[in-house]
Amino acid sequence: MSEPQESRFADLHLHTFFSDGTYSPEELVAQGERQELGVLALTDHDTVEGCPPTAKACAAAGIEFIAGTELTAEQDRHEIHILGYEIDVQNPKLLHEISKFQIVRQNRIREMVQRLNELNVPLQAEEVFALANCRAPGRPHVARALVQAGLVGSLDEAFERFLKKNRPAWVPKFKMSALEATELIHQSGGVAVMAHPALNRSDEVIPVMVDGGLDGIECFHTKHSSAMADHYLQIAERFNLLVTGGSDCHGLSKGRPLIGSVRLPYVYVEKLKAKAAERRAAAVRQFPA
Ligand code: AMP
Ligand code: FE
Ligand code: FE
Ligand code: ZN
Repeated sequence: MSEPQESRFADLHLHTFFSDGTYSPEELVAQGERQELGVLALTDHDTVEGCPPTAKACAAAGIEFIAGTELTAEQDRHEIHILGYEIDVQNPKLLHEISKFQIVRQNRIREMVQRLNELNVPLQAEEVFALANCRAPGRPHVARALVQAGLVGSLDEAFERFLKKNRPAWVPKFKMSALEATELIHQSGGVAVMAHPALNRSDEVIPVMVDGGLDGIECFHTKHSSAMADHYLQIAERFNLLVTGGSDCHGLSKGRPLIGSVRLPYVYVEKLKAKAAERRAAAVRQFPA
């Protein structure tokens, strides 16, 4: 007998080694199975490359899959991460735009390494690229390469000494605006959701983003307290936004994976899918192939 849908739970914020996670798609889905999750969404930073293999692994495991990405954007000098869900991962404009951001990321790795070298930390960009082995490398890969080379004792030390914002090897990243990111997701037929709003202290940009077509807000996140979740649930209600949630699992964290630590009831997934169907129909009308 099939389970009633209402008893299913989703984790809608996950990373693999196609960006700065450590799991392969197959490993991630195996962890999702262990957590008895009914729905997984992959949201790697500035790439959709991991979606086809994750979809395949989910299908084999009987888990519903939602194709996604997490775009790094900016609004009124706040860094904002925009999650795109139910996007067409073969959309040519989406692929073209994210390829530009991947080049920005690769050049930024070289700049960060150069700054480290100026600080007499002898890391080479090629070590970072070899370790990252993906098109969207970021600071976590630099941190791991520093640990691997024995130049720092831990990932935390790498961020604290060198890589955190305004530390000596930090390099700002060129970003699209949050409104451009929202439009890019919409023209790919997906819904745009503001990720972990509490981490960006960015409530004042929400009305602007709602005017720009924002569809939802990530109320439930590993780093949101229940008071923060309640705060964003109220904002979602006030602006008529979708409610989403996810763990933001990047692999093992203090010995265990975060996947499944946030469990979004399926009713929110149904609303997200209904909105995505509207966005997809609008994209077909506005941007015919
Ligand atoms: P980037 O996109 O290259 O700027 O790197 C941002 C990523 O680095 C985030 O998605 C997190 O995965 C990770 N990160 C950011 N700050 C820290 C920190 N203080 N310690 C560990 N990881 C961090
Ligand atoms: Fe990350
Ligand atoms: Fe994020
Ligand atoms: Zn994330």
